[in-house]
Amino acid sequence: MILLDRVTKTYNRRGAALERISLHVEPKEFVIIVGPSGAGKSTLFKLLTREEKPTSGKIIVGGMDYEHLKDKEIPLLRRKIGVVFQDFKLLPAKTVFENVAFALEIAGLPTREIKHTVPKVLEVVGLKGKENHYPLELSGGERQRVAIARAVVRQPKILIADEPTGNLDPKNAFDVIKVLEKINRFGTTVLLTTHNQEIVNYLRRRVVTIKDGKVISDRAVGQYRA
Ligand code: ADP
Repeated sequence: MILLDRVTKTYNRRGAALERISLHVEPKEFVIIVGPSGAGKSTLFKLLTREEKPTSGKIIVGGMDYEHLKDKEIPLLRRKIGVVFQDFKLLPAKTVFENVAFALEIAGLPTREIKHTVPKVLEVVGLKGKENHYPLELSGGERQRVAIARAVVRQPKILIADEPTGNLDPKNAFDVIKVLEKINRFGTTVLLTTHNQEIVNYLRRRVVTIKDGKVISDRAVGQYRA
């Protein structure tokens, strides 16, 4: 469960990036967050991953109250939250397999377990057979699916996808969206930002609209009309 209660984030004197945002996301929900550039969407994600601290307000994720979070608890928190970005952030000198395996290596998992787990997650994202390819040998959609595999390989409770289809053509974009739906069906909460109205219409999920650092609408499944 994700709970934000009147959260404000002010970076500098120019005003608040987020202003008294309250948001409640249930486990296994799929929430689309929309809003113009500069609305505060990335700031919201950075607060959830604890890259930034709120100026005021309460944040609780999976029972962890951020106000009382100790530095040594931050890795545990980050383990609960996978993140993918518009620009994939893959390691170009590593293969598909190695990019995903790396997330487990830095977590200290034994090689045997890594060899067992990575092929399974690559199958989930539809990349079986591409294990030995390098990122530059893949389409944009395939690269994003590698990034998703890496983000979910440690089975986070929450997946944040910040404009994951922004660099992709429609076919690749929908392949990525379908993978996000599949991961959500497996029980992971998904928070997605997109500027693509077709994707919003297709998904038919809860849509939270942020503008000027405030939630200006929050519509449940079925209530959304383009
Ligand atoms: P979005 O992701 O919706 O485009 P952001 O969260 O990136 O919006 O930005 C919200 C506001 O906060 C913008 O006015 C942006 O300029 C400002 N902002 C974001 N990050 C920083 C930062 N590190 N320092 C100062 N201002 C920032």
